[in-house]
Amino acid sequence: MEPFMNPSPAPPAVRIAGAVKRFGNTVAVGGLDLQVQRGQVLALLGANGAGKTTTLEMCEGFTSPDRGEVRVLGLDPVADRDRLRPRIGVMLQGGGAYPGARTGEMLALAAGCARTPHDPRWLLQTLGLTGAERTPYRRLSGGQQQRLSLACALVGRPELVFLDEPTAGLDPQARHLVWELIDHLRDDGVSVLLTTHAMEEAEALADQVIIMHTGTVSAAGTPLELAQRGAEEQIHFTAPPHLNLAALRDALGTHYAIHEVEPGRYLVQGPIAPEVVLAVATWCTQQHVVLGELRVQQRRLEELFLDLTGREVRAG
Ligand code: ATP
Repeated sequence: MEPFMNPSPAPPAVRIAGAVKRFGNTVAVGGLDLQVQRGQVLALLGANGAGKTTTLEMCEGFTSPDRGEVRVLGLDPVADRDRLRPRIGVMLQGGGAYPGARTGEMLALAAGCARTPHDPRWLLQTLGLTGAERTPYRRLSGGQQQRLSLACALVGRPELVFLDEPTAGLDPQARHLVWELIDHLRDDGVSVLLTTHAMEEAEALADQVIIMHTGTVSAAGTPLELAQRGAEEQIHFTAPPHLNLAALRDALGTHYAIHEVEPGRYLVQGPIAPEVVLAVATWCTQQHVVLGELRVQQRRLEELFLDLTGREVRAG
């Protein structure tokens, strides 16, 4: 009898291990590890210059890592480019189209390269581009160009799509159209690696989120896990300025950060239980002062993102 053999599991959609990419003195990606599982949406979230596009470009085979390994559907994106091309869809930042080409022609051209393409008319309709078939690319609005680029990435029915800021510059209606489409892709088992600056986009779309900062992973997890990490609560309260906080620090212990953020406005950060609110009120009584406004607030994912990646605006 033939021995029972476990079929080897399909490799992850994307596997990056220890990838480093430098441009001169700039370390764009500095030792990155990540995996996109089949049928999952992974969002790379990061500020300008975090290394998101460079990561996608290594996956798309446009550039090779200086060190480390990148595998896409188990293949080398550069050496196996021809085998990978029909299986992946790519939406570049800023489109990358011939400005004179008409919408319908561009989509038909992309569909022509695929074995079992989607119906281009269906995609045009789904992405709200019906009626723009004969419009040259350069005459489309920015949002229409963006949606056409997405249509071109998807028309070949890819197993895996790379979307570089798919909703940048879209109005809220168009953004929701794109979100719905990405949800449908996941339902159809398509794997998606996308980049975004928008925390709410990562929260709405992704199974896994990686927060990138200066080319490495600052935090990773499901949106819920990250939100819980970011969900540390804080108490804001007002009282007379310049109170001595030592007794409150002693009462709350080392898990809490307590600051007077501006004269008379105080902040307590840490796990907030009812006893903590009581301790603040008791401390005020001991100080013989009246507690003013008191508010308990949760840090959102956006706060976590800013804390991890810094609040200063980067040049690029
Ligand atoms: P953005 O959100 O602004 O698109 P990003 O997270 O995609 O940023 P990358 O475009 O990957 O970041 O850039 C990472 C760093 O590498 C930046 O400092 C950028 O200036 C630099 N960089 C990227 N491509 C090149 C290149 N071809 N030549 C030189 N430097 C580059």
